[in-house]
Amino acid sequence: MKTNIPAQLKIVQNRINLACQKSGRRPEEVKLLLATKTVEPERIKIAFDAGYTLIAENKIQELKDKFEELKESEHVSHFIGHLQSNKIKELLRYEVTCLESLDRLSLAEKLQKRLEFEDKHLDVFIQVNTSGEESKFGVHPDQAIDLIQAVSRLDRLHIKGLMTIGLFSSEAEKVRLCFQLLKKLQEQIIAAQIPGVEMKDLSMGMSGDLEIAIEEGATIVRVGTAVFGERIYPDTYYWNENSKEED
Ligand SMILES: *Cc1c(COP(=O)(O)O)cnc(C)c1O
Repeated sequence: MKTNIPAQLKIVQNRINLACQKSGRRPEEVKLLLATKTVEPERIKIAFDAGYTLIAENKIQELKDKFEELKESEHVSHFIGHLQSNKIKELLRYEVTCLESLDRLSLAEKLQKRLEFEDKHLDVFIQVNTSGEESKFGVHPDQAIDLIQAVSRLDRLHIKGLMTIGLFSSEAEKVRLCFQLLKKLQEQIIAAQIPGVEMKDLSMGMSGDLEIAIEEGATIVRVGTAVFGERIYPDTYYWNENSKEED
């Protein structure tokens, strides 16, 4: 049986609301972003109809495949996967408004060049590896401020916040440490008062750990399976590409 998307959205929204209540936050402070990898356009549109129009893909190929079918429906498109620099043109062509996974200066510099050429601007989050797991992308927490300083000098890129993938663990307190680390980094960056850098958003928390992330300050939770059902590919297919390209 296919997942009942509107029913699942209600369940997830309730989880968000409860986590907000528990931590003295307002539900409007937390946006539900739908991680739509492997989800067909017709099913994504069901979520749009239910009022959830913030989506994100991990791979440029999927972004491209779904673009035509989704473009008539009003929505906002982020990108949350590892971006290879030879895919920058496509990222812009398919109208991604925020790259949540910026994790290296070389990529930022290439984005800046292309954005200048097209006379466009792009919102970005800096992805931080808070779990210490080798397989996940993201800048090391100790290097995040330096990267942000450097990216802040690129006038076509607008830093809006931080993103992380928490540790995969059934031990909630270990997962919580990842989110606390991201929050602490956010506070340090705000204190550093870097010109042009906004730090409003913390994109953290997924189907399994969104409550913890909200308790620790998430403003965006990225949810896939809890809304659309299990995926056929393991997440390592998306996160564990053989070579970490250092371009
Ligand atoms: C797939 C994915 C998610 C959502 O994961 P679920 O466990 O399905 O909710 C969130 N963030 C990133 C970067 C993802 O690739």
